Amino acid sequence: LSDRLTATFRNLRTKGKLTPADVDGTVREIRRALLDADVALEVVKQFTGTVRERALGDEVNKALNPAQQVVQIVNEELIGVLGGQQRRLEFAKQPPTVIMLAGLQGAGKTTLAGKLAKHLKKEGHTPLLVASDLQRPNAVTQLQVVGEQAGVPVWAPEPGNGVGDPVRVARDGVAEAKRKQFDTVIVDTAGRLGIDAELMKQASDIRKAVDPDEVLFVIDAMIGQDAVTTARAFQEGVDFTGVVLSKLDGDARGGAALSVASVTGRPIMFASTGENLDDFEPFYPDRMASRILDLGDILSLIEQAQEAFDEEEARKVAEKFATDSFTLDDFLKQMQQLKNMGSIKGMLSMLPGARGMREQLDNFDEKEITRTEAIIQSMTLQERHQPKLLNGSRRLRIAKGSGTTVTEVNSLMQRFEQASKMMKTVAKGGMPQVPGMGPV
Ligand code: GDP
Ligand code: MG
Repeated sequence: LSDRLTATFRNLRTKGKLTPADVDGTVREIRRALLDADVALEVVKQFTGTVRERALGDEVNKALNPAQQVVQIVNEELIGVLGGQQRRLEFAKQPPTVIMLAGLQGAGKTTLAGKLAKHLKKEGHTPLLVASDLQRPNAVTQLQVVGEQAGVPVWAPEPGNGVGDPVRVARDGVAEAKRKQFDTVIVDTAGRLGIDAELMKQASDIRKAVDPDEVLFVIDAMIGQDAVTTARAFQEGVDFTGVVLSKLDGDARGGAALSVASVTGRPIMFASTGENLDDFEPFYPDRMASRILDLGDILSLIEQAQEAFDEEEARKVAEKFATDSFTLDDFLKQMQQLKNMGSIKGMLSMLPGARGMREQLDNFDEKEITRTEAIIQSMTLQERHQPKLLNGSRRLRIAKGSGTTVTEVNSLMQRFEQASKMMKTVAKGGMPQVPGMGPV
């Protein structure tokens, strides 16, 4: 699908001015890509509406390269909805800073409590964890385990004290933090599998009781289309100041991020990326934008390829193929041009739809280019222009001179012959193409 998106952008690129039909076609593909990434339908509609409007406007028509402009608009809008610049935690002027966590059961709150505690401790804070999830029998123990891993103390209700009141535990926990001068308090709360009035009231009561500086809504990135209903319910029921996207290590494309940010207007502050306490990072809107559309960095890719594979040079090479004067020097020049494109692997990973290309990516060996360079540079000029001269003893000399083996020299010669043959065919049909990229 994202290959189709790429194709759409490529088609656009060859045109001078965009017609409304071009824009509609592109918008349709973006819509598909967003739905594919599990962005909620209402959010998709709103997003594509904005993109369409801007794409039909003046900024595109006056642009030198309208398609690039459209790519840029899509990217800008995505990053804009995802929160632009990332926001950091706000700390209370008067400690302790109280951070409350809310979200469905299994969203990753307790794990996040540990991650956050560890992170804050590393930054020189003195956090206290508070176990206000008394819903599940082992919830308190789970937080205690996590606290131990993070090296952070846990405030929990006395065991055997009956059912316990989560609101009171939260209030007592904060009081304890004041008494013992902890500078941050992280309040873990209970969740249910579905949205539930009682749960919401409990969370809202905890919020009233501890008056937190931050309420973080933790949501599983794999939640898909339910993201919108869940986020809205928590916004109405408890309200929150920031969002944490968990389980981003899974293969979710991250559509939930766009849905939640779009309908709640709250910033996504952190990303949780695994079960270990260190799998935790600030949320980067620009990276998420690329992940959602799998656009890679089309723009810089196009630019890099254009610079590296200079058209004039390509034309000359093509002529040589046609006239049968393609030499090892030309072969080397081609290789070097490939190297100019920077890290080939890095480049391929920027390609949209790169997932399908991973295999090719792994097969591409940059050392191979370096070796080829060494071998060709060990040849005399005459040898480079008349490869037929390369008999056994010459090949041995070249191998020694380049620090390679005769087998490697032979294999290079084989590839050179294959390349000349193949390129001759291509030359009859037109310009040679950048390998693996198709016409740019
Ligand atoms: P809670 O019910 O909201 O407190 O969720 P938990 O913190 O207990 O997490 C539920 C499950 O998800 C546990 O098995 C966690 O190990 C797992 N989990 C939490 N965060 C992540 C994450 O970022 N990535 C992955 N792969 N698993 C996670
Ligand atoms: Mg929990």
